[in-house]
Amino acid sequence: MITMKDIVREGHPVLTQVAKEVKLPLKDDDKKTLEEMLQFLKNSQDEELSEKYELRAGVGLAAPQLGISKRMMAVHFQDFDENQYSYGLINPKIVSHSIAQTYLSSGEGCLSVDREVPGYVPRYHKITIKATNLEGNEVKLKLKGYAAIVFQHELDHLNGVMFYDRINKQDPFTIPENAKACDQ
Ligand SMILES: [Zn+2]
Repeated sequence: MITMKDIVREGHPVLTQVAKEVKLPLKDDDKKTLEEMLQFLKNSQDEELSEKYELRAGVGLAAPQLGISKRMMAVHFQDFDENQYSYGLINPKIVSHSIAQTYLSSGEGCLSVDREVPGYVPRYHKITIKATNLEGNEVKLKLKGYAAIVFQHELDHLNGVMFYDRINKQDPFTIPENAKACDQ
């Protein structure tokens, strides 16, 4: 199983690389990796397991965070309306997005970043994603608000972008253009 020691931290070059497309149909070892990524997120949100294995709670994980430069990501979370999102995705792509932006007023965090980085991270308020799921089927997901933010954070990892790269350097708390805060 994946634990915190498997997760590479900021400064590792793989986190700034553009990850490679995954060949389909999905090979057994890629599928296993992606399943383990999703399981890690579930374990990290489980009170007993997270304590036992010292897992930091996470809602998303991208393959480059394991040192694997491939376009695969997993998410497992509920949005503020308690809709459940639980996916392992291969070659995810944003096919359309809103002009309107959003941001988390508490800022973002990352399993690869062991410090708080204050500031607003501008994200599209709505996105539509196409990807292949663990069963090998093409999926199209329409996401908004918190869910859109989580997916964009993970998609960024596939393009070598860290959340703090998007924070305004001069004034980290500048409200992004056309943006409303995404709050609970
Ligand atoms: Zn991250």
